[in-house]
Amino acid sequence: MKTPIKIEKVSVVIPIYNEQESLPELMRRTIAACTKLNARYEIVLVDDGSNDNCANILTTAAEIPDSHIIAILLNRNYGQHPAILAGFSYVTGDLIITLDADLQNPPEEIPRLVKVAEEGYDVVGTVRKNRQDNWFRKRTSRIINALIQRTTGKIMGDYGCMLRAYRRGIIDAILHCNERSIFIPILANTFARKIIEIPVMHSERGFGKTKYNFIKLINLMYDLITCLTTTPLRILSIIGAIIGLLGFIFFFILVMLRLFLITNWSIEGVFMLFSILFIFIGAQFVGLGLLGEYIGRIYTDVRARPRYFIQRVVSEKPLSSQQEIR
Ligand code: UDP
Ligand code: MG
Repeated sequence: MKTPIKIEKVSVVIPIYNEQESLPELMRRTIAACTKLNARYEIVLVDDGSNDNCANILTTAAEIPDSHIIAILLNRNYGQHPAILAGFSYVTGDLIITLDADLQNPPEEIPRLVKVAEEGYDVVGTVRKNRQDNWFRKRTSRIINALIQRTTGKIMGDYGCMLRAYRRGIIDAILHCNERSIFIPILANTFARKIIEIPVMHSERGFGKTKYNFIKLINLMYDLITCLTTTPLRILSIIGAIIGLLGFIFFFILVMLRLFLITNWSIEGVFMLFSILFIFIGAQFVGLGLLGEYIGRIYTDVRARPRYFIQRVVSEKPLSSQQEIR
């Protein structure tokens, strides 16, 4: 069932870290794409503590009357996702689109995303048709995507592509999440009712090189996993149980061999010691897993995500003032 919902205003949020060469073309192309829209628009450019001239370029662009550009300057480098979040806290549109500043995501796709969102989708994701990244990045992406699909059970092929559209309600929900490490596409999906994914073009990086070094990629991966699940903590118990069980089976076989077959090697104490050691190692892991279980729960409680979000209240009678305040 499709329920067309007209979008009145579109907000584009772009995180920027040392991208001064791409900025002029990025702004030109994004504005050109947005003027084609049948809606009002704003372009929120977030400078994530760049060391180059980005902050000045953005400030100048935002000061031009009617430029539709809002520049947000962060005091240092916080990372792509926190920068996008900073942008989210300033948007006023009812559809929010994120994209990368390096022109790998063509801004020309914006009108298409808006059109699809108008069909009634909460989140419009994208799959990069002809991904222009190196072999290592593609491989790691594939593993990560498979992992997320397994854990969330939601069918999306490409979580790494940041050219995405979210409805206002989803952004409000994300802004209510207090956790420090977040991965926006996953968080958004947890709050969405209707999700769709469309293929988009992907270009090579116009200027400069990727802002993700190996350490940053690892950090992102940790953010992603902790944002997604506390299952790794539980895996410790499972590993422990397996090691312990194997140790026990080994121990049992050794005792049997000693009693009945009396083979030379089974009499040697070192194997017996090993089997007992395995049982203890297993028990330790199970203990760690149990600790992890409690830590997982503490983590869930500490980040204190709201238990639910009300999308809309429909009532025949007028709401009482207290209900309205809420
Ligand atoms: N970015 C950012 N802060 C960072 C790293 C990256 O705002 O610490 C921005 C960057 O300017 C770009 C987007 O995030 O707009 C994606 O970064 P990049 O293109 O380097 O990532 P890749 O395409 O290699 O995944
Ligand atoms: Mg890129």
